[in-house]
Amino acid sequence: MNEADSDKLAAGLAKLGWQETAKPEDADLAVVNTCVVRQKAEDRAAGYLGRLRRMKEERNGKPTLQIAVMGCMVGPRTDDLRARFPYVDVWARPQSFEVILRHLVPDSDLGGEFWPDTFPKPKGPTAFIPIIHGCNKFCTYCIVPYRRGRERSRTIDDIAREVASHCANGVREVTLLGQTVEAYGKDLDDKPDLADLFAAIHDTPELRRIRFLTSYPRDMTERIIRAVADLPKVCEHFNIPVQAADNDILARMRRGYTIEEYLEWVHRIRDIVPAAALSTDVIVGFCGETEAQFQRSLDLLQELRFDKVHVAAYSPRPGTIAWRHLEDDVPREEKMRRLHAIEAVQERIATEINDALLGTTQEVLVESLPADRRGVKEAVLSGRTRTNKLVHWPRPSGQSDARLGEMIHVRITRASPWALRGVQANAAVPA
Ligand code: SF4
Repeated sequence: MNEADSDKLAAGLAKLGWQETAKPEDADLAVVNTCVVRQKAEDRAAGYLGRLRRMKEERNGKPTLQIAVMGCMVGPRTDDLRARFPYVDVWARPQSFEVILRHLVPDSDLGGEFWPDTFPKPKGPTAFIPIIHGCNKFCTYCIVPYRRGRERSRTIDDIAREVASHCANGVREVTLLGQTVEAYGKDLDDKPDLADLFAAIHDTPELRRIRFLTSYPRDMTERIIRAVADLPKVCEHFNIPVQAADNDILARMRRGYTIEEYLEWVHRIRDIVPAAALSTDVIVGFCGETEAQFQRSLDLLQELRFDKVHVAAYSPRPGTIAWRHLEDDVPREEKMRRLHAIEAVQERIATEINDALLGTTQEVLVESLPADRRGVKEAVLSGRTRTNKLVHWPRPSGQSDARLGEMIHVRITRASPWALRGVQANAAVPA
């Protein structure tokens, strides 16, 4: 989401005549787009701001370096931040692009509403497209609803124009983004849903694939799952965070579902879209999590066999309900032990799942070409399968090179838990 926001701001700055520089040392303006979903990310943002402060001081005022901070670090009140980082010139909440643009050019005409008409310039054949901002769920550990506000959907027309603009500029795959992507449309007058949006953009010229992130179990509907099954461009990959498998922990997290309800959705997805790849997110060491409760998470992963698991050790975020009312009582070493236990189990499962792909031929969208690093051509191309698995393959000799955004067939010859290797099987997949 932050990457998409940064690109959008860059497009707005370009409209005002600004250009991106390769190094911060050459910039007149540095925008730090922050994430504070974990303490580590916040510490990194603070560290980077310290580096910019030194750069600003070294310039001795000529030419000045203006520093803007946007994203989740910026809440409704900025007094504390202003006191802590007095050298920052402008603070903007997530997606408050206008605050930065108006700071730079106070009397600029931004063309009315910034959102509908400012489309980022694509950087390659894939693009992220935010379709719903914010979140209404208020899970007890999460800062997102406080920083990104309530759920607000963009209109189908607005999104369809952005998809068309991207595809006219070389994009072949879009990922529709939301914190809870299936909540799309609930706040709009005519209440379209994600399935309507898939259908509306499906036939965009040059578009080959549609992905979506992140699913929230309670917003999932059978209609949306059926649309994934029925629309050929919608990729059969669901990222559906479970976070924990014990009902008391889920209640303490205020996730809004029981593990039985979660299982029901996973089984429904697998019934309707049998080829679906599933990934999930898990938090270990949440307040009060016992060994037995943790074991339930581990058992669930073995039972459901996800393609990918993102695991995080719980860290309290100031301002959240858990930070105010629950005790962070699992010791750090124990959290790390649980995290590593999940990683080990998942590594085994992912190895087995990926090994089963050996000898198969996968449809891959070419996302990167051989890189020219230190003058040496590494003749390896990379892309992803429909189920979002990363694939590398050597440039085929005696064949014309695949091009970025092209869809090709790759026969899988090697597998690891994290990626696949293969050989190009034949020419491009027909559009
Ligand atoms: S669903 Fe929960 S975890 Fe996800 S963004 Fe919303 S509040 Fe945070």
